[in-house]
Amino acid sequence: MTRRGLSELKVGGLTLRGVAKGGVETSLMVPEFKLLFDVGQVVSGAQSFDRILISHGHADHLGGLHYLISQRHLQDRPPPVVHVPAEIEAPLRVIFGAWREIEDFDLTVDLRPVQPGDDLDVGKDLRARALRTTHRVPSLAYCVDRITHKLKVEFHGRPREELVAAKAAGVELTSPVRAPQLCVTGDTQIEFLQAHPEVLGVRVLVHEVTSWDERRSVEQTRHWGHTHVDEMIPVSEGFTGEALVLVHRSMRHSLEEARAVVAARFPASVRDRVHVFA
Ligand SMILES: [Zn+2]
Ligand SMILES: [Zn+2]
Repeated sequence: MTRRGLSELKVGGLTLRGVAKGGVETSLMVPEFKLLFDVGQVVSGAQSFDRILISHGHADHLGGLHYLISQRHLQDRPPPVVHVPAEIEAPLRVIFGAWREIEDFDLTVDLRPVQPGDDLDVGKDLRARALRTTHRVPSLAYCVDRITHKLKVEFHGRPREELVAAKAAGVELTSPVRAPQLCVTGDTQIEFLQAHPEVLGVRVLVHEVTSWDERRSVEQTRHWGHTHVDEMIPVSEGFTGEALVLVHRSMRHSLEEARAVVAARFPASVRDRVHVFA
């Protein structure tokens, strides 16, 4: 816990700071990327983020959006860029239109509709791929890659003067390389990871586990479009990244209970890389 009542985890060179309580509130800040994932409520510090990635339209992920944009305006900050699943753009504009009427004020909102498969420019040397997840409403995961520029193979070992001359002549010496750094999958059933096994190789994978024991069965959990820990455990064995961060725990399970499940039931090969977000 930070002094502002937020949870914080530093993994894979990134800071994950915020709240991710299943059905209550999800909003995660990643300051190294200047990205804010979901706005269930306005967590302390969220006002400084210029770019927001919304996974889906449930209130525990989206309910704070109007307030956040309004607060930004009061602070004389520009409206943040808000990437949303394309299906919710039109209803959101209706909601903002209603606020316009209620407040008698024309708040500028910069909504950017996103389709599955879109490749978004989300910052300097950062691209985010949007992938369709499996939930009760249209939902997206966002997988963020860092772009580096590597010398093309044909120039390896060439003398420096030759490279300088080639560059001066307009030859492209490097090619972009994408390194997957972070994937935040939002609310989803386990099928998402089965359909996109490449996500299991991302450096930091943030995935939901809403149910942690038999108080909610796998069937009940799936009915509401979520992941049960019984489904996560076998899939986790294929995780090859640095940190698998489990979020969106239902408040019927304590942090201690969830951590005990990780220690007792997750495969030894991955256990030390599994984190329960407080
Ligand atoms: Zn949720
Ligand atoms: Zn949801």
